[in-house]
Amino acid sequence: MKYFWSFHINQEATVIRLTRKVFADLAIWMIGFGLVMGLAFPFFVVMMGVPTELALTPWFFAATMAAGFLVGWINFWLAKRVVGSRLRVLADHMRFVESKLRMLAQAEESEKCTSDACFIAVDSDDEIGESGKAFNYLVESLAFSRRTDVVVRSFTGVLASHLELDVLAGNALEQLLFHSDASAGAILIAAQGELKIVSSQGIRNPDSLCNSEHVRRAMQTGTRVIVALPDDVVVEGISTAYRPRELLVYPVFYKEVPLGATVLASATGFADEAKLRLNLFRPGLALALNNALTHDRLQTLAALDPLTGVYNRRFGMARLHEEFNRAVRTTGPLGVMMFDIDHFKKVNDTYGHLAGDRVLIQVAETARAALRDGDVLMRYGGEEFLVILPAASKANSHEVSERLRRMVEETSIADGDDMIDVTISIGITSFPELNADSDRELVKRADEALYSAKQSGRNRVVVG
Ligand code: GH3
Ligand code: MG
Ligand code: MG
Repeated sequence: MKYFWSFHINQEATVIRLTRKVFADLAIWMIGFGLVMGLAFPFFVVMMGVPTELALTPWFFAATMAAGFLVGWINFWLAKRVVGSRLRVLADHMRFVESKLRMLAQAEESEKCTSDACFIAVDSDDEIGESGKAFNYLVESLAFSRRTDVVVRSFTGVLASHLELDVLAGNALEQLLFHSDASAGAILIAAQGELKIVSSQGIRNPDSLCNSEHVRRAMQTGTRVIVALPDDVVVEGISTAYRPRELLVYPVFYKEVPLGATVLASATGFADEAKLRLNLFRPGLALALNNALTHDRLQTLAALDPLTGVYNRRFGMARLHEEFNRAVRTTGPLGVMMFDIDHFKKVNDTYGHLAGDRVLIQVAETARAALRDGDVLMRYGGEEFLVILPAASKANSHEVSERLRRMVEETSIADGDDMIDVTISIGITSFPELNADSDRELVKRADEALYSAKQSGRNRVVVG
């Protein structure tokens, strides 16, 4: 009550404020005006011809002022009922929304502020109605920003929990499809100047996206490409395949380096909210893909021999261990081949160490060409290689070894005007023909066979 009777003039106010309470102000103004009217009324009636001895009596003044007071008070009461009840609704809703937002800020999942609970029914076309509408817009945008926040957080959470490229891409795609309501999509990665699919869902012949004009344009311009009714993408529906209504291609860039692209197809077209979300996902996805690609590169680097590009001994022997255990479990055959370049020291001595390196690279290349996809070639030592031949019996291993021996024999390596010719000696063994207890025993037997091959004249295959 400190401000009682003090005058507050608000920038917007057109009526002088008397107290800190709007309705107290209203009561003062209305009752005051009623009293003034009551006071002026006897003079009006005198002007209209009523005798002064009747109109200007204390009793008549008292009666008109009482009537003025009553009218003022009824006006105030009505105004309070009509406006006050609506303001109360507004205040209650504000408090409700506020408590709901506070709860949601602590909760993980997004809960919708349903229109019934949070919105105000707007029933007038004036300032009160405008306030109600403004409040509803505010609630809507708060709910939207809260939903977006939750969605982005859950998306980032999924990305942060995986480092393997294919697992990450699969999960990221699932999230992208879910949050954009897309019917199909794919994630493409740029590697060695080409795009390749790392994950796809629902797109017929996804590999065709690698050469898609839309994807190329998005990657070139670094901006989103939207295509209505693309004629080069077909989505596999539940019973039929169809052409999507809208295709969204987002390039994925990390620090201005193009990493790849995401392609999403919708049967009905994307909502604005979905597009906005997808935009918000981009930085997180770019960072996660970059981390996964770096991890992938490091993993590969850690597994490869830097000179020849074949697996190194540490990685290769771990693979042999796995393959041996699998062979024991499935009682399937497993071949092991060890080979060594003949008189390699002489190559180094004659042509130099660099030429020797080139010979090593060429022999590894020839071996790679001679082997099947599932075979594992590793550099076991200086000029000694070990090959794991899953599912190869002794006869198979012998056949492969003989082919490899011949191929190396027939390949010459140029060194200026000179041609360097080398040969290799090979020792092989295989499980379960050799009933080995461990992978080490297989290696030992292959090594012994190799030694025999060297002893018996080199450039030959010996079965251990
Ligand atoms: P053998 O037919 O009995 O196998 O004779 P060899 O001369 O091949 O055998 P040895 O083991 O005596 O020689 C292997 C040579 O391979 C010695 C080493 O300097 C060379 N070497 C090992 N690693 C590399 C490499 O990375 N690059 C080059 N240029 N030479 C290497
Ligand atoms: Mg040698
Ligand atoms: Mg050797």
